[in-house]
Amino acid sequence: MIIIKTRKEISEKIIQLKKEGKTIGFVPTMGALHQGHLSLIEIAQKHTDVSVVSLFVNPTQFNNSKDLEKYPRTIETDIDKLQSVCTDILFLPNADEMYPEEDTRVFDFGKLDKVMEGKYRSGHFNGVAQIVSKLFESVLPDKAFFGLKDFQQYVIIKELVKKFMPDTDIEIVGCPIIREKGGLAMSSRNELLGAVERENANIISKVLEKSKEIVNEKSVEEIKKYVVAEINSNSFLKVEYFEIVDDVKLENIKNWSENNKKVGCVAVFCGEVRLIDNVYYN
Ligand code: AMP
Repeated sequence: MIIIKTRKEISEKIIQLKKEGKTIGFVPTMGALHQGHLSLIEIAQKHTDVSVVSLFVNPTQFNNSKDLEKYPRTIETDIDKLQSVCTDILFLPNADEMYPEEDTRVFDFGKLDKVMEGKYRSGHFNGVAQIVSKLFESVLPDKAFFGLKDFQQYVIIKELVKKFMPDTDIEIVGCPIIREKGGLAMSSRNELLGAVERENANIISKVLEKSKEIVNEKSVEEIKKYVVAEINSNSFLKVEYFEIVDDVKLENIKNWSENNKKVGCVAVFCGEVRLIDNVYYN
């Protein structure tokens, strides 16, 4: 695995690889890697010739400085994990490299970044768009791989490329959620949970799965109430939101008969740790 720390060097390397006819698969991450991240790399390797992973804890997407401070950083073990899955290139820039000056760009995603995560984490998706657009410009990937665990982010990144990077031809590939044995969606933030919290956090995915089983018996509103009440009935958990939206415009579903894919998205506090998960209803 080659480790590259500057934008200039990674661009030069990628241009050389492209001249050799290689296709580039890109997986952006913030580190504290787990099997969810590694699964994206494995998918990238199936679709493209060269796998590039970036590791950068992006300050502009944290709306809460405490959250940024306590975000887990495990660089040495991350490098070992990346090597174990035969990653070709690790792009490991520092903050000065990515933000030599303040990034004041404002991205207009219409309603997409106003709902769900956007509603509760003001400025989060603008920060995501700032860093991902810069990373895309440096890495110049043919395909970029994103986890459907961050479903709203996946939808917004597709819009970012379509609306703000029309000269590029980057294909955004959504990849399945990888879960712990008990069902909890893997997340770097799970490291911050105590053992008992972690056990109780498994309830989140269990309730989402159960809601899928009873979807034919209940209205959209009833399913929403069911999910919120079931998760909140566990004393370790507190739902911030649960919305059922379509998978393109992220508009609220009113009726199961609507003709689009429906995704139930939840954010839950387990103690101080904020967890997200989702389920496709069709
Ligand atoms: P992060 O390091 O949390 O910014 O995540 C980097 C990428 O890994 C994003 O595309 C996430 O959606 C994806 N990812 C995180 N957790 C999982 C998971 N449990 N399953 C699949 N992909 C994931």
